[in-house]
Amino acid sequence: MYAVILYYYFARITDPDEFCREHKRKCQELNLFGRIYIASEGINGTLSGGVEQIEEYKNYLRSLDGFAQTEFKEERIDHVPFVKLVVKTRKEIVTLKSKVSIDSTEEKGKHLSPLEWREHLENEEDILLIDVRNNYESEIGHFKGAVKPDIKNFYDFEGWVDRSELDKNKKVLMYCTGGIRCEKFSVLMEKKGFKDVYQLQGGIINYAQQEDGAHFKGKCFVFDDRLAVEVEKNQKEPLGKCAISGVPCDTYINCHNMDCNQLFICSKEAAIEFQGCCSKECMTSVRCRPFLPDNIYMPSRKWYQYYDENQWLDIREKREQQTTYTKEG
Ligand SMILES: [Zn+2]
Repeated sequence: MYAVILYYYFARITDPDEFCREHKRKCQELNLFGRIYIASEGINGTLSGGVEQIEEYKNYLRSLDGFAQTEFKEERIDHVPFVKLVVKTRKEIVTLKSKVSIDSTEEKGKHLSPLEWREHLENEEDILLIDVRNNYESEIGHFKGAVKPDIKNFYDFEGWVDRSELDKNKKVLMYCTGGIRCEKFSVLMEKKGFKDVYQLQGGIINYAQQEDGAHFKGKCFVFDDRLAVEVEKNQKEPLGKCAISGVPCDTYINCHNMDCNQLFICSKEAAIEFQGCCSKECMTSVRCRPFLPDNIYMPSRKWYQYYDENQWLDIREKREQQTTYTKEG
C-alpha cells in the first residue's frame, strides 16, 4: 500500500534555490516520487511513496519555519503513479502571468468548507458557480450547473474573466482540483470588482472525501498517471466524449505522434483505428511510438519504462522504411 498526497502552502521563502536543494535531498532519502514547485511565495506539490515515508515527509515540511499549518489531501493507492521525482523552483507556484500583482502570503480569499459549499449549492439560487480548471479537465466531471470556461491553461483564466461579462454583483462560488488555483483566482476576481467571491476549501478532492461527491457529476482529472479519480458515486455513463468517434468516454491518452503528444479523450475502438494518434495526419508521422493494443491507456511517460531504446529504434526503422516505400510507391 502506498500514499499519494496533494498540498500547497503560501509562505515567504527567502532562498528558494537552497530550499529546493534541501527538499530534493529529503525526498530522495525517503524514496518519494512526484513533482514539487517552489517559489518565493511558497510550495505546491504532489508526491507518492510508502505510507510511513509520506508521513515523515509531512512532518518534515510542517517542521519548517512558516509551514506548520500546511494541509495535505491524502489517499491510499496500490501503486506509485509517478515514475520520477521533480523538485524545481519557479517564479510562481500557480502561473497566473497577470499584470495584477497578488501576494498570496498576505492576500487571502474567502473559503467555504465542503459542508458549507454543499449547503450553498442546496439553498442558494442566485449564484455564479465557476469551474476554474482547463477545458480538458472539466469535460469529464464538474459540479452541476457550473460555468466551464473554454481555456487550455491556468493563465488563460484572467482573459476569460475579462471577456465573459459576468455580473459582478452576483455571489461567486469557484472551485478547482485541490484549491490552489482558487487561492489566486478568487483574489484576482475581487481585484477586478467582483463583490462576493468564495472558494471551495481543498478543492474537489477534499470535497469528494468529506461530502461524498454530492452535486458533482463524473470524475476529477488529476495530474498524475491515474489521470482521473472517482467523485460521483455509481456513475452510469462517462460525461466526456471521445474526440475521434464522439462516443461517451472519460479515458485520456497522449497522441502517439511524439511531436504532437496532445492529451485527448479517446475510446478504445478509436485508439485502435487511429493507432493511438489524435488525427489521420499524426498517423503519418515517422515519429510515432508503437501502439500497444493491450496497454492503450498506459501514460506515455510510463511507456518508456517498458521499452528499451534498441527495441524502440528497431520498430521506428521498420516504420520509416514502410513510409519511404509508401511514398515512392
Ligand atoms: Zn496528434
